[in-house]
Order: sequence, then C-alpha cells, then structure tokens
Amino acid sequence: MAYNYDPQNIFARILRGEIPCSKVHETPHALAFNDIRPQAPHHVLVIPKGSYVNADHFALEATDAEIVDFTRCIGHICKSLGLQPGAGGQGYRLIANSGEDGVQEVPHYHVHILGGRVLGRMLQKN
Ligand code: 5GP
Repeated sequence: MAYNYDPQNIFARILRGEIPCSKVHETPHALAFNDIRPQAPHHVLVIPKGSYVNADHFALEATDAEIVDFTRCIGHICKSLGLQPGAGGQGYRLIANSGEDGVQEVPHYHVHILGGRVLGRMLQKN
C-alpha cells in the first residue's frame, strides 16, 4: 500500500485524547466531533479510529466491521441532527476530501457532514 500514516496528525492526537474535541458521537470504530471552523450550522467530522489516510485507503483496507460501524455512525448523526430528508429533515452533504486535488488538510480519513442551510452547488463551475 502506498500510504504512510502520520501518527502525529491532528485527528490522531484527538483520538489519543491529547487534544480536546467537541464530541458528537462515538462507536467502537468511529468518533464524531464538531469541526473547529464550521462552514454550516451543522458541521460534524466523522473519523475511523483506525489509522487510515483517506477514503480509498479505508475502503480497501478497513475490515467489514469498521466500514459498517463507520457508515452507521454517519446515519446515526444525520438522524440525531434531524437532517434526514426521508423523515422531514432538510438534507445534508457528505464530503471526503482526499489527496492534493481533493485539498485534504488532515491526513486521517474523515467525512464532513454539513447541513442546516442550503449548501449551494457541489462544485464551482469553471
Ligand atoms: P479537510 O480539508 O482535511 O477535509 O478538512 C479538515 C477539517 O478539519 C477542516 O474543516 C478543519 O476546520 C478541521 N480541523 C482542523 N483541525 C481541527 C481541530 O483541531 N479540531 C477540530 N475539531 N477540527 C479541526
């Protein structure tokens, strides 16, 4: 595998309890906390507890149990925040920036859950 995980990245430090976070939810394999610079009324980051750099690393190397747990964690948060379009919520967006073109800042896999306002187009038109 081409990925070298940096154990000093900020989310690894949050997982070890070296840096505080505003915890939203925790499962056996995932931790969710509020983004320190929220870009929407709801802006939650969901991270696996395992050492995965990005989405493809996680998809290819995480165990089935980790993947199921992580996905269910996202579902739980969308439900608890009242965002589910199928249950009267106004919807949300999931973002997983990866690598240079994805402009990933923190090299520990994370999914942004954004909601609470109309989020505009997915990408700017060139
Ligand atoms: P990325 O660009 O890697 O997808 O997003 C990283 C996110 O992590 C950014 O939205 C940034 O605001 C957030 N972030 C960076 N450092 C911290 C931190 O120490 N605590 C929290 N809660 N969020 C952080």
